[in-house]
Amino acid sequence: MEENTNTPSNFIRDIIDKDLEEGKHNGRVHTRFPPEPNGYLHIGHAKSICLNFGIAKDYNGLCNLRFDDTNPEKEEVEYVDSIEEDIRWLGFDWEDRMYFASDYFGRLYDFAVQLIKESTAYVDSSSAEEIKNNRGTPTEPGNESPFRNRTVEENLKLFEEMKEGKYEDGAHVLRAKIDMASPNMHMRDPVMYRIKRAEHHNTGNEWCIYPMYDYAHPISDWIEHITHSICTLEFEIHRPLYDWFLIELHLEDRPQQIEFARLGLNYTVMSKRKLLQLVKEGYVAGWDDPRMPTLSGLRRRGYTPESIRNFSERVGVAKRDAVTDYALLEHSIREDLNIRASRVMAVLKPLKIVITNYPDDKVEQLETDNNPEDTSAGKRTIPFSKNIFIEQDDFREVPPKKFHRLYPGNEVRLKSAYIIKCNDVIKNENGEITELHCTYDPATKSGAGDSRSVKGTIHWVSEPHAVKAEVRLYDRLFTAEDPEADDTKDFKEFINPHSLDIMSDCLVEPGLADAKPGDKFQFIRQGYFCVDPLSTEGKLVFNRTVALRDSWARIEKKGK
Ligand code: ATP
Ligand code: MG
Repeated sequence: MEENTNTPSNFIRDIIDKDLEEGKHNGRVHTRFPPEPNGYLHIGHAKSICLNFGIAKDYNGLCNLRFDDTNPEKEEVEYVDSIEEDIRWLGFDWEDRMYFASDYFGRLYDFAVQLIKESTAYVDSSSAEEIKNNRGTPTEPGNESPFRNRTVEENLKLFEEMKEGKYEDGAHVLRAKIDMASPNMHMRDPVMYRIKRAEHHNTGNEWCIYPMYDYAHPISDWIEHITHSICTLEFEIHRPLYDWFLIELHLEDRPQQIEFARLGLNYTVMSKRKLLQLVKEGYVAGWDDPRMPTLSGLRRRGYTPESIRNFSERVGVAKRDAVTDYALLEHSIREDLNIRASRVMAVLKPLKIVITNYPDDKVEQLETDNNPEDTSAGKRTIPFSKNIFIEQDDFREVPPKKFHRLYPGNEVRLKSAYIIKCNDVIKNENGEITELHCTYDPATKSGAGDSRSVKGTIHWVSEPHAVKAEVRLYDRLFTAEDPEADDTKDFKEFINPHSLDIMSDCLVEPGLADAKPGDKFQFIRQGYFCVDPLSTEGKLVFNRTVALRDSWARIEKKGK
């Protein structure tokens, strides 16, 4: 991953540089990426992955994959598998360091017992309702629980019995004994454990008490020797609690929590709960629907790992939340595909042309560049014959001003072939155009040193050689820049009803007959396309990754 070696500095790297200078953690850098396995990874997670694994790589450190699976009900094995696949696909490797927070349930329990013994944790038998009502408000202190001053022995016994399943769900919780008057609400005796009878994907029915994230996370980090625990801004206010547990447990070489702004993208949603709704309620075809901001969706759409890593780099690391323009993501994939994708010809809405002065059975193999941006990509030949197809949009019976494509009496160049002239428009009994009759100028073969030029060049395919294909064009999934902005409305009200356009009568040049799922091409003048995994030998399906016009490049230009 060459592009990471010149990573610009950011405030997180500044902190790490300073720590290294001061000899903290004996010069070690160890990060982790801690997904909760309750959904597929999205482009926001990619930013966190690139940051955590990127830092580890640049500082000769390590990065762990840790599944944050403290919530038994919502988590599924399917998600664990997809998360592993997506991180690998992005190009990162956790080697043998894949962990589960649930691996630490035993140690977390022992640490909780230690806190009870030191009188810094207690069993509260108040109801959830009572605990909530006694928390106070940001401006008023909370009330201490009547159970706050239970003896150590009583607490130990109750906590053990909670673990043994003697109590109903919700009968007791274990709380940290901190300060009910703290201005930070998270420090007002936060809950550490709750009773919950639910099967866990990893530990099955072994446990009926589960630790809360705020308690499990710092300790999991410490167990794994994490040095820098990078998370998103909403956890900033939890940091004193993160530190509190580690300090009260007298743990040495403590990890440090550092927060950065999450990635937000316009015209989409990023909450896993909302993405799940789109999947479950059938608004999209699945987590990997090419319109989804998930990594599996972007992959199916034709995004490359390089483009996503470059995008993450460009977005940078900030301390304040901001929304990134979707156009920047599209710019990143265009830039990558511009170099790697072969140019091919595909006609999405075919219009037949008969070249009346071309011999009936003649077929010429015409030479064309695979990629003018990359001379090492070489050349190929494409067949040319009497009957061809062009794009319906490239012909107008009555041309508007400045229309330089085909119209009666006008000439255009067929890309890598000849100049043709339109002589007759053939219509059916309903007045619809069925074909055009043209003549070609044999003296204008491309690459043969012709001096004559015309204003328009259009793409085409040869009728007897063309291969049928289905092409799927995508638009934004939402019509609103921020579908979550209006609290009074459901985000699904802003779903774009025209986000998918399936074109089933497309024709592509014969070389694409053997294209494999994931293969990427530029269809000349139409954009970048990728073979869908559902494509079979009998039926080629292409997804448009992105159109050619780059609004981000235009914005960048203007700014200069
Ligand atoms: P959700 O609340 O939608 O379930 P989450 O943030 O809780 O999402 P996690 O699985 O906990 O999802 O996230 C794993 C890691 O990825 C966390 O460290 C989290 O901070 C980070 N992350 C999640 N979303 C973003 C984002 N949009 N931008 C950057 N990092 C993110
Ligand atoms: Mg989370």
